[in-house]
Amino acid sequence: MTSHLIYPSTNLNAIEQLEIVGGEGIYVVDSNGKQYIEGLSGLWCTGLGYGNEELVETAARAMKQASFSHLFAGKFHRPAVELAEKLHELMPVNNASVFFGNSGSDGNDTLVKLINYYADATGQPQRRKIIARERSYHGITVAAASLTGLPANQKHFGLPVDALGILRTHAPHYYRGQQGSESEDQFVDRILADLEAQILSEGPETIAAFIAEPITGASGVIVAPESYYPKLTALLKKYGIWFWSDEVITGFGRTGNVFGCTTMGAPEPDLMTTAKQLTSAYFPLSAVAVRGDIHAAMLEQCGQVGIFGHGYTYSGHSTACAVGLKTLEIYQRDGIYQNAAERGVKLQAELAKFADHPMVGEVRGKGLIAAVEVVANKETRAEFAGGDGANRVLKHAQDNGLLLRNTGGSALAFCPPMIITDEQIDDIIDKFGDALDKSFAELTA
Ligand code: PLP
Repeated sequence: MTSHLIYPSTNLNAIEQLEIVGGEGIYVVDSNGKQYIEGLSGLWCTGLGYGNEELVETAARAMKQASFSHLFAGKFHRPAVELAEKLHELMPVNNASVFFGNSGSDGNDTLVKLINYYADATGQPQRRKIIARERSYHGITVAAASLTGLPANQKHFGLPVDALGILRTHAPHYYRGQQGSESEDQFVDRILADLEAQILSEGPETIAAFIAEPITGASGVIVAPESYYPKLTALLKKYGIWFWSDEVITGFGRTGNVFGCTTMGAPEPDLMTTAKQLTSAYFPLSAVAVRGDIHAAMLEQCGQVGIFGHGYTYSGHSTACAVGLKTLEIYQRDGIYQNAAERGVKLQAELAKFADHPMVGEVRGKGLIAAVEVVANKETRAEFAGGDGANRVLKHAQDNGLLLRNTGGSALAFCPPMIITDEQIDDIIDKFGDALDKSFAELTA
């Protein structure tokens, strides 16, 4: 291990190393030749798995043709234009226009800036605030981490930036947020009543948007109760607040539909962020979408000020866009969306069987994204100190050849590549069940 490498999102004093040297299909291989199922698609991103020759060839061809081609000041290339058209067709944002970046974080930063640009363009300089939720993850750059609702990503980093005007509201996490014996619907009504009170006290005219992951991924795979999104979006509409769907994890088939907002009952977002599975992680790329009329207002504003002063060197990198186009073609051509929906039904049904296990508090998910929340006490829902229970299961799963991730403290997340088969799901379930049983035996010995 080199001492000159700073690992991202890691306890820098307790690094558990695992050198990955290869991958094929849903599997990766370590430097000792041991094979693992990549149960989290890397970091929720390798939708088509590893070693996809078509994507490798597409990237190589694009690089040979023009190793770099950009979009500044009117330069353009076919892959960017075609990918924008494809996304316009696919995204449920009304008459969507898209802007490219490199990561989910920079995509969210872009939309924070576009909200401000729009406010100026339309003569509403006060309409800049954004409501974000607790326990949310929207990325790690300065604006995106300010939106994120996890103290570890803000504390000691000088965040959130107050000038961004970010307001915080409840996470729709019934299992951890339920008060007394309230039902799911009562829980939803309570947290949305708090939201409405907050909107009214801030002044609806000062609030531009509400950002949400349709299913919160990195902080525990939180699946909102069924009534939450329809009621939330109706409330936002009442006050003219945009719904911003952060689909960095849930986009492109993950939840059983092309976009998670459709699965969760918020089918017409005004803004959308995508990345990760857009290229199946074969090349970094993000695409954010705004409604057509928002784009039109930007054009007007640009007419006044002379420039749209935002863009990354790699906004619309030609290789990234070529890989994105090919990825979307493969998803449709090879029935990957359909496979994710069908295999997702099986994954959820199989994982649900663990709900009775003495170490399992809750099993939740949609499509091919799920979590099993490990608890020390099923009655009180108390977690193990220091995440011990979940981390133990994680370690045994790894020994069994299954890579998972502990999210939100004690929720073991599943997010396998969308090319998975029923037999491979059975294998995940066997490996995971054994890891749970071994951990329970150790903890009760
Ligand atoms: N938004 C969501 C919902 C995410 O889950 C993530 C990353 O996991 C991001 C944004 C940030 O994406 P990136 O890590 O590519 O910057």
